[in-house]
Amino acid sequence: MKFEYIPKIRAQESFGYIDFPDKFYRFIDEFNIVGVRWLQPTTISASYFLRVLQEGSSAKARGYGRGNNKENDELSIQMQDFYHPLLDHGALWKVKNDNVICTAMPYGDRESITDGFYRMVNMFHYPETMKMEFLDDKYRFRINGDHMIAIYCDSSQENFNPNCSDKELRRKAIQHSAQGFLRYQTTTGSYVRDRYVSEYAKRRAHGICQLCDKPAPFSDCDGNPFLETHHIIWLADGGADSIENTVALCPNCHRKMHTLNLSEDVEKLLKIATIAD
Ligand SMILES: [Zn+2]
Ligand SMILES: [Zn+2]
Repeated sequence: MKFEYIPKIRAQESFGYIDFPDKFYRFIDEFNIVGVRWLQPTTISASYFLRVLQEGSSAKARGYGRGNNKENDELSIQMQDFYHPLLDHGALWKVKNDNVICTAMPYGDRESITDGFYRMVNMFHYPETMKMEFLDDKYRFRINGDHMIAIYCDSSQENFNPNCSDKELRRKAIQHSAQGFLRYQTTTGSYVRDRYVSEYAKRRAHGICQLCDKPAPFSDCDGNPFLETHHIIWLADGGADSIENTVALCPNCHRKMHTLNLSEDVEKLLKIATIAD
């Protein structure tokens, strides 16, 4: 699926769809958005909609080439019923790392919108990993619509396989990294941590603490060096549950970070987490 690049400034003029540019850019920044497809999600087929949310922007339309446009997306009228209750003012967004989420700004109260979502899930037999969240009004960049919602596939519900190959682990950790914001918004109090991100951080440390550079002090029952994963910018402070924000530390250094959180240590770890892969 093709996405339009989002200019860093003057989006209001270029898109003509945005009433509140500051809210628009808050949404773009906090959700790591890099591209947009403004066309109604209801113009693609129900199965393509699911594939795009599951597989990201690389998901291919099947049977395209109808109509004038050779790049035509898989078109359908299946989803038209959900235009009003759910997908009004809808758009698809390409997130950093190629994930795709859908937003819409439907009219109505929360109950009727939630009801519309579950009717859609039932009608097309969408999996339980498809989720809907109400986003805060601080992101609603249009006058239209009573609410802003996000629909996405929650990869944190995938079964974690601790024995997956390095390649598979890296692919999943990168993919899951981009969904952090939506995922931990769903819980209250404690944050959900992605196991693929955590496992990836540990594996790439190769048993060496990334702060003091010493080997892990002991091995666990399975013989793996014991390190703990740490979010450099704490989740409570808005840090992402992503591989760029996660390191593996020995228990001493982990305590040190939570007690002192020295800025030179934070800087060192941020550098390591960014360049480590
Ligand atoms: Zn250490
Ligand atoms: Zn920590």
